Amino acid sequence: MEWKTDALVLGGIDYKDHDKLLTLFTAERGILLAGIKGVRKPKAKLAFAAQPFAFAEYVLVEKGEHYTVKSAYLYDGFYPLRLDVERFYAANGIVAVCKAVAPDGERLHSLFVAAVQAMKELAYAQTDALETLVGFMLTAAGEAGYFVDLDGCGICGAEIEDEPYFDFDAGQFTCRECSVGSRASVSTYHTLRKCASLAYEEEKTQGGKKRALRLMKAFLEGKTDTELACIGELLQICTEP
Ligand SMILES: [Zn+2]
Repeated sequence: MEWKTDALVLGGIDYKDHDKLLTLFTAERGILLAGIKGVRKPKAKLAFAAQPFAFAEYVLVEKGEHYTVKSAYLYDGFYPLRLDVERFYAANGIVAVCKAVAPDGERLHSLFVAAVQAMKELAYAQTDALETLVGFMLTAAGEAGYFVDLDGCGICGAEIEDEPYFDFDAGQFTCRECSVGSRASVSTYHTLRKCASLAYEEEKTQGGKKRALRLMKAFLEGKTDTELACIGELLQICTEP
């Protein structure tokens, strides 16, 4: 049976002499493996469809639980991601988060759209790579059922002013008086609000980018029980304070 679907390539491993086994993120069925034949031969016609980050329409042949790529039409290979090390790592971060969250059901489609949108931003927009990744992680967390509350103190509702805490279990900030969770910073809170497209105070985001990424990494790692190693590497190479 043939099945046509949009998909994002999350990875691939060499298989047999000339083939690859791709990890595809599809909007309808989530993450699946699909064989693609002959793509490691020189001049292989479908080589583009086996590249990491490729966003394409795939025609898959379905046999039992196995999928094989029959043909593909490339929408975007996001080539510029390979030209900037931070953007490249951030794109790998998106891939890792998709795999960690491994969504299914009706929330799948919005996560798929968010992943493609984040890849586009990383490849072509002048936006900050870390902020794009953090924004995607917030969306992914929400779609996976681990919503992060950025609306003041999650307990008493007070504004988040100084010395806030972050409650990793509940996914919310708490104020100094309520003080539930681990110590966090005001800059993390405002940077997360910025990345979530909420109102924020620019001067309070200073130095918050890496903190926000670190917090979201720890949060998603805890919720999904998956290590997001490439995001740790991004934090290491990142030159921002
Ligand atoms: Zn409070």
